[in-house]
Amino acid sequence: MLEAALVITERNDSIAQKGRQKNQIKCDTDSVAGCVSQRACVYCGARVVLNPVTDAIHLVHGPIGCASYTWDIRGSLSSGEELYRNSFSTDLKEQDVIFGGEKKLAQAIDELVAKYPSPVVFVYSTCIVGVIGDDLEAICKAASKKHGIEVLPVQSSGFIGNKSAGYRAACDTLLRLIEPPQSRKNQHSINYLGDFNLAGEAWIIRNYLHEIGVDVNVVFTGDSSYAELKTAATASLNIIQCAGSMAYLAEKMEQIYDIPYLRISFVGLEDTVDSLRRIALALGDAGMIARAEALIARETARVQPILATYREKFKGKKAAIYVGGGFKAISLIKQFREIGIEVVMIGTQTGQREEYETIHELVEEGTIILDDANPAELERFMVGQGAHILVGGVKERPLAYKLGVCFIDHNHDRKHPLSGFTGAVNFAQEVYSTLCSPVWNFVR
Ligand code: SF4
Repeated sequence: MLEAALVITERNDSIAQKGRQKNQIKCDTDSVAGCVSQRACVYCGARVVLNPVTDAIHLVHGPIGCASYTWDIRGSLSSGEELYRNSFSTDLKEQDVIFGGEKKLAQAIDELVAKYPSPVVFVYSTCIVGVIGDDLEAICKAASKKHGIEVLPVQSSGFIGNKSAGYRAACDTLLRLIEPPQSRKNQHSINYLGDFNLAGEAWIIRNYLHEIGVDVNVVFTGDSSYAELKTAATASLNIIQCAGSMAYLAEKMEQIYDIPYLRISFVGLEDTVDSLRRIALALGDAGMIARAEALIARETARVQPILATYREKFKGKKAAIYVGGGFKAISLIKQFREIGIEVVMIGTQTGQREEYETIHELVEEGTIILDDANPAELERFMVGQGAHILVGGVKERPLAYKLGVCFIDHNHDRKHPLSGFTGAVNFAQEVYSTLCSPVWNFVR
């Protein structure tokens, strides 16, 4: 029995095996106390979303350790400003915890604004700031007035929920930036939500969209600037790649600015093709639909033969997936199918109920599905299911290597694009280079 194999019984409802147990698992809840969850904290969730804003000052109000989360572990690229690559901290110490950190925060903002000309400062709250109760809102308001720029608090104390609460905190901050539109741009102008331009991925997608006649107004938040974000409400449609982090913002923009949204995914060939078609259809222009079909035909003809050669090499191989959001997990199941690999274990940090329903439909009988896993569970099921390769992020890499299992990085610190047609080929190449590496012959 699966349950008997688990160490922490409170986790039983968050894990299932397709065909042998419940169809729906528990998800979108806080982690079980005592579990070493693979999830990042609320502050990290907020930082993922906001850090790619290239011309912002990102100031972490907290102990220096929280500020170790920097651009260096997030490969978001910029075509302009580079200020976002710095990570600033108020470096709170024991004295500040006892007497409060507000003065220190106000001084830090003054210092940074004097040294780095920027139109906006994001001030991130961390665990200890939530505990001591510094009034971020008041400090930021006073600093805004003093310096004549926007200084915005990000209410992301690490313990106030899970990573999803951090996404919402960042989206609330972004909503404060967006200005009511004087007029709409044109019907082909869209915002691209939930792409952080890792290794230039937003540029790849922007090129596809440009080719079919879509004008990308602003990307949230990959390679974005303060001025561009301000104009977001002038677009006619929002498309969302990473729904876990940005569905909330899209829903709010629909309520406030009447901008409809579409969930898409540019991970894998099947979803890239489907997404281009749905965007063209949503914008409803016959010429655009024709251009989308031409692009799809050309790129599919280029990519399919390459994937076919890899499919031959991957016969009999099995994969495990553990990623942040549900949309990526769903696309990865299809992407592995495209290269002939069966998924035997799949989980996410912040997947939603509907996403797990789709995952359940897509995977084969016997696949383990789990939400908010801990290292012990991942190791147990990777081995138990006979996975040859794990797709995950920086925290999962050592688990795989320790077990002699190949690993693919699909997180924010990678340096190569995995989106679109280009990404589909890169993914297959990377799977090949790790799965077929001779190094595994030496693992005992
Ligand atoms: S906010 Fe809290 S949980 Fe997050 S990195 Fe800082 S101390 Fe750790």
